[in-house]
Amino acid sequence: MATERTLSIIKPDAVAKNAIGEIIARFENAGLRVVAAKMLHLSEEKAGGFYAEHKERPFFKDLVGFMTSGPVVVQVLEGEGAIAKNRDLMGATNPKEAAAGTIRADFAETIDANAVHGSDSVESAEREINYFFSNDEICPR
Ligand code: ADP
Ligand code: MG
Repeated sequence: MATERTLSIIKPDAVAKNAIGEIIARFENAGLRVVAAKMLHLSEEKAGGFYAEHKERPFFKDLVGFMTSGPVVVQVLEGEGAIAKNRDLMGATNPKEAAAGTIRADFAETIDANAVHGSDSVESAEREINYFFSNDEICPR
């Protein structure tokens, strides 16, 4: 399997729970490496642009409201099959449907505030990484 990069966001609910370290430990314990990271309090414009694909969905306004409600930690994770591996570690979008032991099962209660974001394809990973990081902010390891 190829070495990939994926964009991860630790969302405001998980940051508020003081769970940043526990969540990053799950990535590292699964063999993913953090090659870029920053903490940001997103503006409506930045959050809305990030979730542009969901612009017409009924939950878009609430999603932007939630993503701007407090700081987030944005990271680039690198490793073998990093995109799918991160999605496996995250669990299903709705925490009530997320498999036991996944991040969303353990740290999230609702579909609106579900602890983490992870890119869902090679194309979205590339777009999302470039949306938050310039090349000189990424440190290959
Ligand atoms: P994922 O984050 O698992 O890739 P999506 O890309 O489908 O999920 O949706 C983006 C985010 O929008 C979700 O993580 C969740 O916070 C929110 N969301 C998705 N579907 C719903 C819904 N039906 N109701 C409320 N929020 C939703
Ligand atoms: Mg998605």
